[in-house]
Amino acid sequence: MGRPFYLTTTLPYVNADPHIGFALEMVQADILARYHTLIGDEVFFNTGTDEHGLKIYQRAIEEGKDPQAYTDEYAAKFRRLKEKLNLHPDLHFVRTTDPDHKEAAQEMWRRCLAKGDIYKKKYKGLYCIGDEMFLKESDLVNGKCPNHPTMDPIEIEEENYFFRLSTYQDKILGYLHRESSVVPNWRREEAIKFVERGLEDFSISRDKARLTWGVPVPDDENQVMYVWFDALTNYISTLGWPFDSAQGKPDDFEKYWERGFTLQLAGKDQVRFQSVMWQGMLMSAGLKNTDRVFYHGFITSGGQKMSKSLGNVIDPIAIVEEYGIDALRYFLARHVHPFDDSDVTMGRFKEAYNADLANGLGNLTARIITLAEKNLPEPIQRPEAVGFPKEYTDAIEQYEYNRALSYVWERIQKLDRRITEEEPFKLVKTNPEKGRILIAECASELYAIVRMLNPFMPEANETIKKAILENKKPPNLFPRKE
Ligand SMILES: [Zn+2]
Repeated sequence: MGRPFYLTTTLPYVNADPHIGFALEMVQADILARYHTLIGDEVFFNTGTDEHGLKIYQRAIEEGKDPQAYTDEYAAKFRRLKEKLNLHPDLHFVRTTDPDHKEAAQEMWRRCLAKGDIYKKKYKGLYCIGDEMFLKESDLVNGKCPNHPTMDPIEIEEENYFFRLSTYQDKILGYLHRESSVVPNWRREEAIKFVERGLEDFSISRDKARLTWGVPVPDDENQVMYVWFDALTNYISTLGWPFDSAQGKPDDFEKYWERGFTLQLAGKDQVRFQSVMWQGMLMSAGLKNTDRVFYHGFITSGGQKMSKSLGNVIDPIAIVEEYGIDALRYFLARHVHPFDDSDVTMGRFKEAYNADLANGLGNLTARIITLAEKNLPEPIQRPEAVGFPKEYTDAIEQYEYNRALSYVWERIQKLDRRITEEEPFKLVKTNPEKGRILIAECASELYAIVRMLNPFMPEANETIKKAILENKKPPNLFPRKE
């Protein structure tokens, strides 16, 4: 039995179509889910949709829809990503409007309350609807939220419940001082600095007079939960927490969250939510902290943030429709930096597609299988499944997808060179026996290379392996694009 491995993306808000940044996080997570499955771990892979909060409520009203109908529509769009991005077959999908999730959020609340970490107070502050959070004076840039320079923060005064995050300052620091808690390491240092500046308690509910769209606060009919408090709980509600055992079902929470290794993926702007706020909530509820959070960078296009008005939006679904799913997955893994911001243009995408996929992998596959089909009397034996090279596994386990694929492409180039230098197409005429041995060796090496594509390009992995074992040239996987 493999080791239990849990991983989750953040849940996107359902107020827009899936964008390339989320596709990046989804593909990065899926590569790990497939990799861990491949090496024999038992994987629990979670994603879903974050559906409460003022921003979503307002958008639904603007569109003249009932909030539940509005979120149903968007949740279905995000659910379709499973097919569009060819995600792991066992992907779990949690919606924060699911009844089980809402009950879990309420249980989380009750536990924090029982611990003495929830209290009520009058509060006045500036609220950014874009981020669904109160801003501190020190956050403001020219009086606006730094993430939303075109939106005016709104002044809110009301009586809310607060969570005693300040109580957990030292404990959270202790957690962040574990080297493995955050990847990359400089993001961990950033988190430590953020906590060292002092943690403030934060409001975790909203007055129903202002917002009804949320999980009801237990035993207070006038308040709903702050969207973050509810949404963060999804990471464990998806595992059936806290109800599983009572229902006598296998306890995924115990298996994956408590005994397994837990990994969360998130964008670089999420540090204070995922590595601070959520960890404080877990501590308060007496639950194990997340083992590690991996933060990716942002994608810009042509040096600017993508926007409809600039016309530089890169639509992941349009790429999939024109170039195929593996082309998108490949590009996000190899040519987008796993941790830093990356700039992506369609020009750069096409260049990489033609060079690495059409001319590289596609061409090599056609070359070798054509030779094999013509000259080998029967298909090669399935090569024995040996372990993967350390260069490759180390890179993936450090989330350096670009490095893992550079290694795979070095092997592709090396094999290409071997064919050019040793000319099996000529050798097979002058010395058929030696020629056939060389062709079979090239086919085995291609098989070994393609095995390593399993987590990254599941379709190419299957198609090429099958073609080698059937000794039959596959359809052109990556037609050149002009
Ligand atoms: Zn904001």
